[in-house]
Amino acid sequence: MLKIGITGKIGSGKTTICRIFESIGVPVYYSDIEAKKFYNDSNVVKKVCALFGNEILDIDKNIDKKALASIVFNDNDKLLELNKIIHPLVIQDFENWCKNKTHCPYILFESAIIYESNLAHLFSKIIYIDCPEEIAVKRVMKRDNITHLSVLERMSKQGTTIPPYDFRIISNEKKLEIPQVLEIHNQILQLSNLDVGM
Ligand code: ATP
Repeated sequence: MLKIGITGKIGSGKTTICRIFESIGVPVYYSDIEAKKFYNDSNVVKKVCALFGNEILDIDKNIDKKALASIVFNDNDKLLELNKIIHPLVIQDFENWCKNKTHCPYILFESAIIYESNLAHLFSKIIYIDCPEEIAVKRVMKRDNITHLSVLERMSKQGTTIPPYDFRIISNEKKLEIPQVLEIHNQILQLSNLDVGM
């Protein structure tokens, strides 16, 4: 079973494209969704409180994720510390998730920050979703009901360079996405056959 990373900037269409892969039977690990679940773990709550103080808890003693997000948005050191707590848990969870999927030719790991989190080495190949910035901005404004400026602020935290990738999917609302997915799917199936043969 090959492990394939799929990445792209905010609003590039990662989740939407992963849903297409899922519809043809490819399992997808959505790292952001899984990471959020760890904020309910009592050990994580303790560690996060040690880092940010008990003020980070809401009235129900749960981590206030919005408050946390706004702190780390403006404080890169704190973001790195938070990542040190969450990322190893996500990687472990992902490895466990993979265990009963060894019969699959490949699985996908979806994350906007594969390179920023130094995770690229976990994957045989990387798929990059390439979306023009103005389209991604328009999508996120609509999806999250936020202003143009707020989207640009979020995006300013991302690198502007295109990361190294093995496969690229163009999500520009002109080029059809399903044929691109099928083409890459077939190429990965061929690679997975070679992998099994080795
Ligand atoms: P994020 O990193 O912010 O989670 P993402 O890369 O996973 O975003 P999606 O959530 O898939 O991106 O897409 C962002 C928004 O754009 C969603 O509301 C989605 O429905 C819409 N969208 C995605 N692809 C297309 C498309 N090809 N045409 C029109 N709308 C699209």
